Amino acid sequence: MTNGRAPAMLVKEISMPISPPLLAILACPLCKADVKLTADEKGLKCVSCHRVYPIKDDIPVMIIDEASVEPGRAVKT
Ligand SMILES: [Zn+2]
Repeated sequence: MTNGRAPAMLVKEISMPISPPLLAILACPLCKADVKLTADEKGLKCVSCHRVYPIKDDIPVMIIDEASVEPGRAVKT
């Protein structure tokens, strides 16, 4: 197994906040559900458990301990 680390390195060269292709491969590490960009583009929210994973320096931090549960937080549509 070599994929134990977060996929953060994939976005190092991308200047946009989060690109659609990257969003498509990201998933909540807890329930493996899709994540969506929040309305303020500062987080990725799981569609299933409503955890919001922070985006730091344009890199999504897909770590359960770093996420906060925010059911009411808006996401981009
Ligand atoms: Zn989840």
